[in-house]
Amino acid sequence: MTDRFSIFSVLSQAFAGQKGWKPMWREPAPKAEYDAVIIGGGGHGLATAYYLAKEHGLTNIAVIEKGWIGSGNVGRNTTIVRSNYLLPGNIPFYEHSLKLWEGLEQDINYNAMVSQRGVLNLFHNDGQRDAAIRRGNALMLHGIEMELLDRAAVQAKLPFLDYDDARFPIQGGLLQKRGGTVRHDAVAWGYARAADKRGVDILQNCEVTGIRIENGRVLGVDTVKGFIGAKKVAMAVAGNSGRVAAMAGLRLPIESHVLTAFVSEGLKPVLDCVVTFGAGHFYISQSDKGGLVFGANLDGYNSYSQRGNLPTIEEACEEGMAMLPLLGRLRMLRHWGGIMDMSKDGSPIIDKTPVAGLYLNAGWCIGGFKATPASGWCFAHLIARDEPHPFAAAYRLDRFETGDLLDETGGGPDAVVH
Ligand SMILES: Cc1cc2nc3c(=O)[nH]c(=O)nc-3n(C[C@H](O)[C@H](O)[C@H](O)COP(=O)(O)OP(=O)(O)OC[C@H]3O[C@@H](n4cnc5c(N)ncnc54)[C@H](O)[C@@H]3O)c2cc1C
Repeated sequence: MTDRFSIFSVLSQAFAGQKGWKPMWREPAPKAEYDAVIIGGGGHGLATAYYLAKEHGLTNIAVIEKGWIGSGNVGRNTTIVRSNYLLPGNIPFYEHSLKLWEGLEQDINYNAMVSQRGVLNLFHNDGQRDAAIRRGNALMLHGIEMELLDRAAVQAKLPFLDYDDARFPIQGGLLQKRGGTVRHDAVAWGYARAADKRGVDILQNCEVTGIRIENGRVLGVDTVKGFIGAKKVAMAVAGNSGRVAAMAGLRLPIESHVLTAFVSEGLKPVLDCVVTFGAGHFYISQSDKGGLVFGANLDGYNSYSQRGNLPTIEEACEEGMAMLPLLGRLRMLRHWGGIMDMSKDGSPIIDKTPVAGLYLNAGWCIGGFKATPASGWCFAHLIARDEPHPFAAAYRLDRFETGDLLDETGGGPDAVVH
């Protein structure tokens, strides 16, 4: 049996009928107690477990997932990664994430299809161009390469957008060449496999139903498979953050909303990078299979359901066709929804909670996939050392009381870049 991917193992398995591979991770029974448990087997929970084991030598840990690995947002997003944020509290964190993406496949020995095809944010008026220049300069001051494209350069790169008769004429775009896409569910599987190899127990179909606390300190979690004791409990449950934190008596500054994504039938290459529409909220890329993968804004009501609603579909298609008219000729294959943990300022929380031994990772809004590696890295640092990682120092829970908010969308006349 083999469990390492290499040219030799792939070739030998091709001749052996693919029968010699080990399962990607074990299915262990829960232990009575762990040094730490992470609630939520999404990208962030699994990355946290992996870096806890790899960077901090903590291996008596478990990831507790109510469904199956990849069933949450990590397997539902539009796969876009980038680090082109504006605010100093965000830029180093997201750039660290992008650097971790760049080395991830070698690190975890797993093909996550990291594709640095570029992310281009279009602008359609002078105010937006000024904001793009400001953002580009802020990033370049942090050593991050950005490129401002004029209309002709955008047209040469993406000839199928609407340049001639557009409701919102394209003036240019800000390009981050190192941004791109990563195969979302492969990220979950790759981190799960790599964490398991370092001794982490991955407990699927094991919903957490309660958090036990005594004298202000966490004792462990109640689950559908019984009580699991833990010295430290870390919450990384994305759209269910409000519900799980309530088990510890906490009320978070977070609302849950549905976000929908779409994929079309496959077609020949028409988009060679990720593009975002500046006159609305729409983002699109072309998958390696040829389908156009795209999304738009949130459904505008609170919900814990994982499916979207018709008005959002209409809005997404209208915005898409305003930018890329050929979309109207395609058949849609699927659309699906995920539950987004929307924080009040659009930025995440990686912090301790008022309960000793209980940690919180939440508030990723619609853009937490790109953050997965850095989120795991910084959350693991916080759990292991009980102090925030410098890159995540701004992601404090008490900023909603002190007013020290981190609001990217307040930074200029941009429609939200995804
Ligand atoms: C349609 C859509 C498009 C998106 N596009 C992008 C994008 O292009 N780029 C980007 O950066 N971000 C994007 N995002 C956001 C990104 O996917 C999320 O911010 C990120 O995946 C959240 O972190 P996660 O992977 O850990 O979440 P999840 O995968 O949701 O993990 C949380 C896990 O917690 C589990 N859980 C919940 N309650 C319990 C419980 N009581 N007990 C045990 N387990 C529990 C859930 O089952 C789930 O598996 C998108 C999201 C959606 C839905």
